[in-house]
Amino acid sequence: MSGDSLAPGATIGILGGGQLGRMTAMAAARLGYRCHVYAPEAEAPAAEVAAAHSRAAWDDEEALAAFAARVDVVTLEWENVPPETVDFLARFVPTRPGAAVLRTTRDRLEEKAALDELGVPVARFLPVDGPEDLERAARTLGVPFLVKTRRFGYDGRGQWRVDAASDLARVADALAGRPAIAEAWVDFRLEISVVTARGPDGARASFDPVHNVHEGGILRRTYAPAPIPPDLAARAVAVAERVAARLGVVGLLAVEMFVTREGAILVNELAPRPHNSGHWTLDACLTSQFEQHVRAVCGLPLGSPARLFDATMINLLGEEAADWRRWLEEPGARLHLYGKREMRPGRKMGHVTLLRPLGGR
Ligand code: AMP
Repeated sequence: MSGDSLAPGATIGILGGGQLGRMTAMAAARLGYRCHVYAPEAEAPAAEVAAAHSRAAWDDEEALAAFAARVDVVTLEWENVPPETVDFLARFVPTRPGAAVLRTTRDRLEEKAALDELGVPVARFLPVDGPEDLERAARTLGVPFLVKTRRFGYDGRGQWRVDAASDLARVADALAGRPAIAEAWVDFRLEISVVTARGPDGARASFDPVHNVHEGGILRRTYAPAPIPPDLAARAVAVAERVAARLGVVGLLAVEMFVTREGAILVNELAPRPHNSGHWTLDACLTSQFEQHVRAVCGLPLGSPARLFDATMINLLGEEAADWRRWLEEPGARLHLYGKREMRPGRKMGHVTLLRPLGGR
């Protein structure tokens, strides 16, 4: 094996303790790896299926050094891990992806600017550092437009739609001085995403583009494959692979895109980790996104992303997870629960994948 690869038996450090880390650890265990989860929070679904768990703060250098000494490579399942934490760990152990990728993808303005620089089409955007920028955005972008906080926005949080000039004061109040980005409203035909994997040697493999349906900013359903013509699907994959290569990602990169009514692709968001819109691959592909992540991070040959079934993935939010029996009784349904104890409204508790023969309805 090459110098970049880690043989089964090695320990993978995972930053973050959520369900993405949990499913990564399960895929890693299947290939004979151990996982050590580092997460500050008390409830860590990933830690329940991992060989070891460090519960400590992101800036606890003593705990981070002890963690680094016990793992052979570090990856992450949450992109808001401070890049400084990853810089610190990189002094001891390879970090895949590296801190530079996080610096770009954790900040919506940096991310859009990086994509723009690569020549990747994105919605028109402007930085917002104060109320006068909101007024400028209304003039330049026209209404409606969207305002999103640059950092820590996910599942629709930290986003406001401006429909008229009279909304500006309300949005300025909600922002409370936080740096933000204004984005032109995209009247899209559908939202798609591509999960692509990139190895340390630049090897690449991408899953088929899928169609995502959001409600209130939260992913509700993913349909695989996306109902788009093959040339558009090929373009979407090419965009994702190019962005992953240019950012130097090692591991997975999920690329969320809008397909406009004219058939153009605009990239909306990047996530350098396994992604909710890739959960269907667990049941419907030869290699799941989680196994692919482990393969990429460990420098193993990437697996075939071939789709064996058509699939619909349904997120189980909050109380919906209480319906688990119904899904177990449904033929063709595969149930995944994350073991979270508290069913808060909108919280991702699990998902179901419904499988159909390829090309079926
Ligand atoms: P985001 O957090 O950027 O992924 O946004 C959450 C959801 O809001 C997206 O999946 C879209 O459904 C919607 N959205 C985000 N940005 C735009 C935009 N520029 N135009 C229209 N809808 C958007």
